[in-house]
Amino acid sequence: MQHCKGLPASGGIAIGKAWVYRPQRIKVPRHPVEDSEQEWQRLQHAFACARTQLQELAARAQTAAGKEEAAIFAAHQLFLEDAELLAAVQHLIQDEHLNAEAAVADSFEHYAEMLLALEDTYFQARAQDVRDVKQRVLRLLSGKENDVPILSAAAIVIAEDLTPSDTIQFDRCNILGICTVRGGPTSHTVILARALGVPAVVSAPLDLSKIAEGAMVVLDGDSGEVIVGATPETIAQARQRADSWQQQRAVELAASHQPALTRDGHQVEVVANVGSLEDAQQALAMGAEGIGLLRTEFLYLNRCQLPAENEQVEIYRRIFEVMAGRPVVVRTLDIGGDKPAPYLHIQTESNPFLGWRAIRMMSERPDILINQLSALLIAAAKTTTDLRIMLPLVSCLGEVKQAKTLFDQAASVLREQGYQLPEVQFGIMIEVPSAALLASHFALQVDFFSIGTNDLTQYTLAVDRTNERVASLASPYHPAVLKLIAETIRAAHAHGKWVGMCGEFAGDPMAAPLLLGLGLDEFSMAPASIPTVKQAIRRWRWDECKQIAQIALGFATAAAVRTYLQGVVRSS
Ligand code: PEP
Ligand code: MG
Repeated sequence: MQHCKGLPASGGIAIGKAWVYRPQRIKVPRHPVEDSEQEWQRLQHAFACARTQLQELAARAQTAAGKEEAAIFAAHQLFLEDAELLAAVQHLIQDEHLNAEAAVADSFEHYAEMLLALEDTYFQARAQDVRDVKQRVLRLLSGKENDVPILSAAAIVIAEDLTPSDTIQFDRCNILGICTVRGGPTSHTVILARALGVPAVVSAPLDLSKIAEGAMVVLDGDSGEVIVGATPETIAQARQRADSWQQQRAVELAASHQPALTRDGHQVEVVANVGSLEDAQQALAMGAEGIGLLRTEFLYLNRCQLPAENEQVEIYRRIFEVMAGRPVVVRTLDIGGDKPAPYLHIQTESNPFLGWRAIRMMSERPDILINQLSALLIAAAKTTTDLRIMLPLVSCLGEVKQAKTLFDQAASVLREQGYQLPEVQFGIMIEVPSAALLASHFALQVDFFSIGTNDLTQYTLAVDRTNERVASLASPYHPAVLKLIAETIRAAHAHGKWVGMCGEFAGDPMAAPLLLGLGLDEFSMAPASIPTVKQAIRRWRWDECKQIAQIALGFATAAAVRTYLQGVVRSS
């Protein structure tokens, strides 16, 4: 029996036989070619076939899963048109006289590795998509396109890693669950698994060579637990849990479009963290009341120059239109030495998280912020959105004042040009302890705060959020982090300002009574968490939450806070 814990990726409990997916590895031939033009044409033919396949897969995904899932394959087609990627392949074939297979393998892999090196998990997950397209083109070039194992009976699919193409080609009725040894919880495979309603666990440390075909598996997509070779008793217990999970999820989904009200009538806003138009659509489907964090980095990475103002306007406008008048909190560019943007000339830094990043770029490159603020204001003027703009990584008051001056400048230039600008709230993220401790001063300058617990935890506990070795030290339940959250909310409310939270902590249902009790006004999270957190909020009375929060603040360790909350959740 193998028993392990991976990362929970798509909720639910799956029980069934193991089917280990072992795709054929394509050996990439590597040799010089004499007629590079002919080689280039051979590749063009493979690209054309890949496009046709991807159109078919998009149509299949649309029927099996939905519009957003079909968009994954539409996005794959874009990799085949990516100017930078094509230029790299063309250079290898036409200037270096390399064969098409090796040129594709090298260029696509280089691109995937560049994405993997980014700190943002969204971009890391896109590396898997690039590799998926690479495999498709390589299969076409080698003539082995039909060489894929078939899932012919209902089973739990276990694989080293799965691409979206792998996942969609399986017959939906036959996939009981998905478990991968690699991959992160934001990969497209996971997005597909969620849309198909299939429980999934990723990053599960399983030894695939030791799994017997047909062994019984229990997979818990909420806790990340995976048991291979489960005993009849374990299976019976899992069946009970699966039944009650299904009932619970059905209740959550049925009420996901209702407001989040505590039992004594206190209402909070539940909104979504998004990084694309597709995310915004998914957020609405899950019952989001708006966007609490629009990460805008996707507009700036993987390119050779800054995005033009009109390009930005167009993307913001589309997202705002989808949100149809609901609040949208947009975070200005949050990028630094850990994310490559060669045109910004960011130097290598030994501590990029403490370095020249995010709002700190403003004094040297005010043009970038002015450009982004103008694009946001124009997009807001063209729609009915309730736009709120926030600055990341603020650590001192001067930064807010300077950014507000730039904002006023951008607005007055646009008004002179005849734009009718809507009212826009201006806020900051609380991610640095100095900002939390001085929240009462910051509150005089802004309309709202949004607490970024991912960074606030990193900076409060001195734990690099990308370093797995110290990951166990990082917990937003740490009383030091909780005290900073409490002080932020207290100071904001004393000045009549509202406070949101867009760090992962807001999406943790166990934290709901604590955050309600501290007075949080807005909870922003991954779209899939919204139904669960709304339901968690509805379980509590606000007055009892206030007591729970006071007690939690008195503990000395994160473990003590967690144990206490587990106890109150269990007995509620
Ligand atoms: C945070 O730091 O909590 C946050 C939401 O920002 P990011 O995770 O994008 O750094
Ligand atoms: Mg952050």
